Amino acid sequence: MTKSIAAFIWIGGLIAWYIIRHPFQRRARAYAVKASLLDTREWALLGVATTGLFIIPGFYCLTGIPSALDRPFSPILAWSAFGPLLGALWLFRRSHRDLGRNWSVTLKLREQHELVKHGVYKFIRHPMYLSFFLLGISQFLLIPNWFAGTAGLVGAGLLFGLRAFREEQMMIDIFGEQYRSYMAETKRIIPWVI
Ligand code: SAH
Repeated sequence: MTKSIAAFIWIGGLIAWYIIRHPFQRRARAYAVKASLLDTREWALLGVATTGLFIIPGFYCLTGIPSALDRPFSPILAWSAFGPLLGALWLFRRSHRDLGRNWSVTLKLREQHELVKHGVYKFIRHPMYLSFFLLGISQFLLIPNWFAGTAGLVGAGLLFGLRAFREEQMMIDIFGEQYRSYMAETKRIIPWVI
């Protein structure tokens, strides 16, 4: 494993990420929206997560900037990125499939929105955000730069930290007791832990 191969693996992961999401995004346009919490804050959060997970590491892979923050490349760390990367891709696909027509990039409620409690949603309420964290971990392991390597974890952390509570409140407003009892049965992001 070399630094360039690690960068190619990271780029391959991104391409796979896009291939997984694209059909869901295309189909989602056909499903009517009942309510949306899409405001400046939502756009900003999505922008921050996209910048950390895709733009900053992509720019680093192309230019090597900021090289002053490079750390020594470790083949062992890069090899160990396969676990989180494959886990992220699997979970990303699985959570899209489980949410089905209820999925949306931003906080939206569809007409006839159903509360999903099956599949990976049986264990945690935010598997898609967990997949962002796993992607961020693989980015850290594959990209030997303190800024570009950690940017994904910071972006995923801000998205989760500033959005999950608002999302849960939106679900409580709509589903009431049904969502509260779902909350009591599940963990937020790490199965059986938290
Ligand atoms: N936070 C979830 C989903 C992210 S997608 C995760 O990390 O997996 C965001 C959209 O999913 C929100 O607009 C919300 O309407 C919808 N959503 C989140 N949890 C849901 C659930 N359990 N059932 C149905 N829709 C859900």
